[in-house]
Amino acid sequence: MSRIIISRTKNGILIKYNNKRVLIDPDGVNRIPYEPNFILISHAHADHVRGLRHVYKKGTKVVLAKETYWLLKSLGYKFYDEDLIFVKPGDSLSLDGISITVYNAGHILGSCMFALDLSRVRIGYTGDFNFEDTVVTRKADVIDADLLLIDATYGHPLFSFPPRNILYKLIREKLREIFDSGLIPSLHGYALGKGQELTRIAYDFVGGIVSVTGTIAKFNRIFEEFNKVSLGNYVIGARGDVFVKDFREIRRTNGERFKKIVFSGWVIKFNKRGFPLSSHSGFTKIIDYIYKADPDFVIPLYSNAAFLARLINREFGIKADFFDDEVKSKDIIYNVSLRGLNSSH
Ligand SMILES: [Zn+2]
Repeated sequence: MSRIIISRTKNGILIKYNNKRVLIDPDGVNRIPYEPNFILISHAHADHVRGLRHVYKKGTKVVLAKETYWLLKSLGYKFYDEDLIFVKPGDSLSLDGISITVYNAGHILGSCMFALDLSRVRIGYTGDFNFEDTVVTRKADVIDADLLLIDATYGHPLFSFPPRNILYKLIREKLREIFDSGLIPSLHGYALGKGQELTRIAYDFVGGIVSVTGTIAKFNRIFEEFNKVSLGNYVIGARGDVFVKDFREIRRTNGERFKKIVFSGWVIKFNKRGFPLSSHSGFTKIIDYIYKADPDFVIPLYSNAAFLARLINREFGIKADFFDDEVKSKDIIYNVSLRGLNSSH
């Protein structure tokens, strides 16, 4: 009986099947006691790639979008060119006897989802994903997976975000209100992903000159180069009509003329003044995605994984399990011949 073993290691998600090992999104600080057949990188956010330097060495194949490579390169990551396998949504390839299909994740520039076909089982990995169009990204594709590993960062009903068109309308009204009161809006979000959406929103809703930080400008330019579109009239520095900055700049943005607004799904929980404009799917979109992907086993990942696993098991009758942060060595085992599942510690 073949078994697929999925492990939440201290440096990424590891999928073991026969003698093959596929490592996905290395995020830790630990070396690993084996050599993966290859590494899949979903996107360039630090919490999905910061463990690369501990697991990547010359000769290890790395599968990623070309956009992700350029973003990582701009962040100082180094690779040997011959190890890189560039993919884009719609691609299918076979590596070491494992077939990989690539999908759009709709999260940030270059973000990909992967399906691995192992024997008769199709494993889907969403990575961070957004199941909704935005002004800078296209809604995530649905992976027709048997076993679905899904981003559950906002997998709790608390994070049922309003639809994008409603949020955009509310943001536009807020920006107008700030201008009418004689203040300058300072929009804050993650530099990579949200930074591009906010630049576009600021330019579309306000016009004039958008002032951005050097880091956001760098990501904006890579975005524009790949998408062959302009995000608007932005400059680095202080001579803007509206400002777009990183989260970290909030404390440093002082002065009575600024009105600071935060853009993140977390504003709901932490009650900050801002908008729940997220590059991840909110709760209702996650549920919608699972319904459409129609898997027979789900492994939610990240912040609300435990809650979501219990919920879909109880409410939908779909088998689900999660990696408990307290139990580092837990593996989830999928028995292929039985299409049955059990997890062991
Ligand atoms: Zn991300």
